Amino acid sequence: MDVCDPWVAAKYLDFEVQEGWLSSNATRQGFQLGGFINRPAKLIAISSEQKPRTKLFTLAHEVGHLLMHPGLHHHRELPMHGLTEPHEPTDQRERQANHFAGCFLVPEKQLRLAFTASFGVKDLKLTDTIACELLGASYTSLMNSPYPSLAFERVVAQAQRFNGHQFSALNDLFQVSPTTMAIRLHQTGLVYR
Ligand SMILES: [Zn+2]
Repeated sequence: MDVCDPWVAAKYLDFEVQEGWLSSNATRQGFQLGGFINRPAKLIAISSEQKPRTKLFTLAHEVGHLLMHPGLHHHRELPMHGLTEPHEPTDQRERQANHFAGCFLVPEKQLRLAFTASFGVKDLKLTDTIACELLGASYTSLMNSPYPSLAFERVVAQAQRFNGHQFSALNDLFQVSPTTMAIRLHQTGLVYR
C-alpha cells in the first residue's frame, strides 16, 4: 500500500537517518533508548533493537519534531509503539509529535479508501448486529465495554473479515499498532457508538 514513508520525509528534510545500537547511558535506569535527533548535525538516530513498526512510529514522531519544533536541537526518545502507548505523554511537544506521527502514518484519505474497500461501508456504528458480525458469540463483551473506551475501535482495527469478505487488518495494512489504528478510526469518525 502506498502510504507516507518517514524515511523519505527525513531525507526530503535533508536529515540522515542512522539505525544502530544506541547507548542508554543518559536515560533513566532500565529504559531503552528509541532514538534521538541531533539537529545541528542533521541526524536522526533510531535504535535497531526495536521492532519495525516501533521504528516507523519513532521516525515519524521525529519528523514531526523537525517540522513543528524548530527550537528542539537535541532530543532523546524512549521506544514508541504508537499513540498513547503506554501512556499519553505529559509534555505537549511529545503529544504533538505523536499526533503528527499518527496522521502521517495513517492519512485520513487513504484510511477512508482502505476502510470502504475492506468493510464495504463508509463507516461503522456499534450495534448488536455489527458486534455479532465482528465477534460472533462473544459479542456481548463489546456491547458491555465501558464508554469511553476504544474497545470497539480496536476490534475493527484488527478485523480480518466482515460480511463474508476477507481482508488484511487495517493496522497491518498501515504498519501501526492496533491502538494507533483504533485512535485514528475514532478521530476520523469512521467508527463510532
Ligand atoms: Zn519526542
